[in-house]
Amino acid sequence: MLDFLGDLRRTHMCGALRASDAGKKVILMGWVNRRRDLGALIFVDVRDRSGVTQVVFSGERNSAVHEKAELLRNEFVIAVIGTVKLRDADTINKNIPTGEVELVADELRILNEAKHPPFLPGDTSLANEEMRLKYRYIDLRRDAMQFNIELRHKVALAIRDYLASQGFFEIETPFMTRSTPEGARDYLVPSRVQPGTFYALPQSPQLFKQILMISGFDKYFQIVRCFRDEDLRADRQPEFTQIDLEMSYPQPERVWETVEGFLTAAFKAAGHEIKTPFPRMDFDDAIRQYGIDKPDLRLPAFTEVRDCFSPADLEQLAINKDLPVVAVRIPGVGELSRKERDDLKPMFISKGGARIFEDFKRIENKFADGAVKIRQKSGAGPDDLIVLVVGSAQSGKDDHPAQKRKVTPAELAIYASAGLMRVALGQKYAAKHGLFKRGDFHFLWVTNFPMFEYDEGDKRWVAAHHPFTSPHDEDMDKLESDPAMVRALAYDVVLNGTELGSGSIRIHRQDIQRKIFHALGMTEEEAKSRFGFFLEALEYGTPPHGGIALGLDRIVMILAGAESLREVIPFPKTAAAKDLMVDAPTPVTDAQLRDLGIGVVKKQT
Ligand code: ASP
Repeated sequence: MLDFLGDLRRTHMCGALRASDAGKKVILMGWVNRRRDLGALIFVDVRDRSGVTQVVFSGERNSAVHEKAELLRNEFVIAVIGTVKLRDADTINKNIPTGEVELVADELRILNEAKHPPFLPGDTSLANEEMRLKYRYIDLRRDAMQFNIELRHKVALAIRDYLASQGFFEIETPFMTRSTPEGARDYLVPSRVQPGTFYALPQSPQLFKQILMISGFDKYFQIVRCFRDEDLRADRQPEFTQIDLEMSYPQPERVWETVEGFLTAAFKAAGHEIKTPFPRMDFDDAIRQYGIDKPDLRLPAFTEVRDCFSPADLEQLAINKDLPVVAVRIPGVGELSRKERDDLKPMFISKGGARIFEDFKRIENKFADGAVKIRQKSGAGPDDLIVLVVGSAQSGKDDHPAQKRKVTPAELAIYASAGLMRVALGQKYAAKHGLFKRGDFHFLWVTNFPMFEYDEGDKRWVAAHHPFTSPHDEDMDKLESDPAMVRALAYDVVLNGTELGSGSIRIHRQDIQRKIFHALGMTEEEAKSRFGFFLEALEYGTPPHGGIALGLDRIVMILAGAESLREVIPFPKTAAAKDLMVDAPTPVTDAQLRDLGIGVVKKQT
């Protein structure tokens, strides 16, 4: 039954025909999207990535072609030659752009038959996701996926064009390299020619892009795949794409302007206008006002309401008077039922002994004065939900290594607990507060992060960003004496509560880089064996430099209004890091393992 293209050439896309094409002879090629057989007339919707056109096969007009059309089934690939005709007024389909016309067929070629697929691209109820991923080629034929992949292309192209117009070069960096410093687990590639040695897939091109600055390519970017072997969540993939850039001699503001420029272009390509410059916020303020380093500005900030209670109230409520009392307000939620309040309790993740008062009515009943003040101070309307997050009497030990920070660890615990609750409530009551409108984009730069975080388990300081991030000049002398107080020249760009990317001004002096390694507890030998080549490169005339990397998948996911990264990555992996279509990963043959000098031992569980 196979037929061949022969001398046919597609003249039109299926979604492009309009009333103005009436009378034209055209050749369409595409898939059979739907077939309705009315006997003397057979209607076939032919689909390609641009849309569908209705084709009519009339027995009266051409019985041989009509007969052939009876053989057509869903997803057959066909070529049709015919004449574009205006539809009768009563058969116009307003739901599709080609709805005013149809193609009356004179010739039909079946280019390929198709097995009946496990689901159809036009199905309105979606197959389960495993099925979609196994038959990804069918899934990708669906309108929504075609839209997402096209969007991804347009966004990437707009970013490339913008950066090129600003003098950036796109430069490739190796995938087979050595362990890079982002702090996740590496994917390893065994070397056959050097048995027992391994390449690592890059977690990011961090060191290469810094080397490119040393090499004189003072504006670099790359839309690049990165690989991190982490436990997966809905918004993580083992391989993902970053918009990675680096420039020489920048102040942070230059990096921010560049990012704002390419995001403006990217969002425009998706039909959205965004406002620049983005607001900026210190890490400490983000924590105090939102309890998180990636605040969602669509919801109101916290209000500190300790002073709304009298000392006696605080004591009676067993609230720690030395710690913040945080009012979290979610507008328009209305009064909660008993059951809703009960559901809310397990949503609270308490850090450092933080407690929640989820029943504001009770506070209003017993501490009327305080409650009125809280409503006033937080600007709460009558329908707004207020929960209080407070420290318990026992929280707040003061011998923590970060005790001298502006936000002490005990305060941080309260703010962080409140911040998580705010986000959870915002999601749960999205329908009620109505503040998560599509196309409403609240960008933010968060800056001045602490340079180090204290690892409670290992009892040592670790780099909060990566170890190539420069400290603030005026904090240099505290690197060893008071690491808690060192601020980093690091910044994150945040959109609606999602971290889109992070970056920093880098260390460009070898002596400082050594100091940082030392402050992180790395011995000279360790530093040398991991990053020796880089330390050496720093000694050959390194310009000051800085950069950033943003997740392309996330940006497209937000623009597509998708729920998961898998909706915007053509061939994604499952939460178990599997590709269900090609069935990877798989065992390999003994011969392959022998070649690589690798023996597989069963993992003890
Ligand atoms: N390499 C960093 C990352 O992937 C980004 C940067 O600092 O430019 O997070």
